[in-house]
Amino acid sequence: MTTIFKKIIDKEIPAEIVYEDDQCLAFKDIHPKAPVHLLVIPKKEIVSLAHLSEGDGPLVGHCLVALSRIAAEQGLADGYKVAVNCGEAGGQEVPHLHFHLLGTPATK
Ligand code: ADP
Repeated sequence: MTTIFKKIIDKEIPAEIVYEDDQCLAFKDIHPKAPVHLLVIPKKEIVSLAHLSEGDGPLVGHCLVALSRIAAEQGLADGYKVAVNCGEAGGQEVPHLHFHLLGTPATK
């Protein structure tokens, strides 16, 4: 199943991409729930946290290290929230693993 996030990875549909490397992508959420609301996703098509395999550890770590750097670049010096919805009961709508990064830039 091709998800909307796979189409964003493949540049088939537009997104406001703020970071990209060979393993992950970060772009603005289309319905932001905070002044900064980004989605950080692995380029590998992993459905959810429940679908991780043992070998995915370094990739997930890479995504989180990227998220940490992106948060700093976005001015979230006072802190931020990271959320992952997993599965239908967890409120996950797009079946491609993604980390929500939510926060408000520090004023000073
Ligand atoms: P929820 O919608 O409950 O947050 P998810 O955790 O699956 O469920 O999050 C999917 C997120 O993807 C939502 O915040 C939604 O606004 C966002 N989204 C959906 N389509 C796009 C898109 N084309 N570009 C950017 N963000 C999108």
